[in-house]
Amino acid sequence: MTARIIDGAALSQKIREEVAQRVAKLAGTGVRPGLAVVLVGEDPASQVYVRNKVAACEKAGLYSKKEQYPASMSEAELLQRIEVLNGDPTIHGILVQLPLPPHMDSHKVIEAIAADKDVDGFHISNAGLLMTGQPLFRPCTPYGVMKMLEAENVPLRGAEAVIVGASNIVGKPMAMLLLAAGATVTLCNSKTRDLGAQTRRADVLVVATGKAGIVKGDMIKPGAVVIDVGINRGADGKLCGDVDFASAREVAGAITPVPGGVGPMTIAMLLVNTVEAAERLG
Ligand code: NDP
Repeated sequence: MTARIIDGAALSQKIREEVAQRVAKLAGTGVRPGLAVVLVGEDPASQVYVRNKVAACEKAGLYSKKEQYPASMSEAELLQRIEVLNGDPTIHGILVQLPLPPHMDSHKVIEAIAADKDVDGFHISNAGLLMTGQPLFRPCTPYGVMKMLEAENVPLRGAEAVIVGASNIVGKPMAMLLLAAGATVTLCNSKTRDLGAQTRRADVLVVATGKAGIVKGDMIKPGAVVIDVGINRGADGKLCGDVDFASAREVAGAITPVPGGVGPMTIAMLLVNTVEAAERLG
């Protein structure tokens, strides 16, 4: 069997067009959704992510404000900037690009963002709301994965969903969203014994570890839907995921590529969250 490729680039384009329509509707009420993207330091990958997010905003008609600061910025100065953005009526969403320099406490910084402008969905209130089944903002990457599963008509009620990777930004919120959709969820981490025994049970397998090729074809149940969140730079300099694509596509029923899978969906869902914030805040 050769797996169907789930085209995240095409689906994200469709979502961005829907966002543009919602932006146009809001314009009629005198509101232009605004996103502030705050970048501290010179991490090259973060710079690329921020550039892509700002470009996507502009393309969809949102207002975007990029604030870039040197790594030497103090935590107190950053907290002060966030306070200003919290009170700025032209800004509906605030995103602080992670990772922050080591002298900053990222939890403290995220908690400083007004929960109703926390379009990344990382604020502790938003994590709690998601956990208790009343989400305000769903974190963009797992939200994008849910949209892909929905677009592919993947049945989730009663399905075995296995997630490899349990971070606060991907694995844990992914588990909450799949659980809310009725799946039976297994969440694996680096201490999981016999990872293959877990992944082989999965009807839906989501992999988000940052370890290139950690899941191979023989760890996948035939016909499973495989979502590869990982973004790694291979020895050849090319981007690759956490799933060994060549062997996995011979076993899976459907699979996301890297690049062109989850990555573009994450950005699209950031735009969705920002528009939702603007619709709520006005
Ligand atoms: P983190 O490093 O924060 O978390 C990694 C998770 O994977 C941890 O829970 C860790 O376990 C687990 N893990 C590590 N090694 C293994 C292993 N051998 N077996 C099982 N579990 C393991 O990473 P993120 O969640 O931030 O990111 C994961 C990947 O997804 C990265 O490649 C990142 O670049 C990518 N990413 C992609 C996005 C996109 O838009 N496509 C968005 C965000 C991230 P433990 O808890 O025990 O340490």
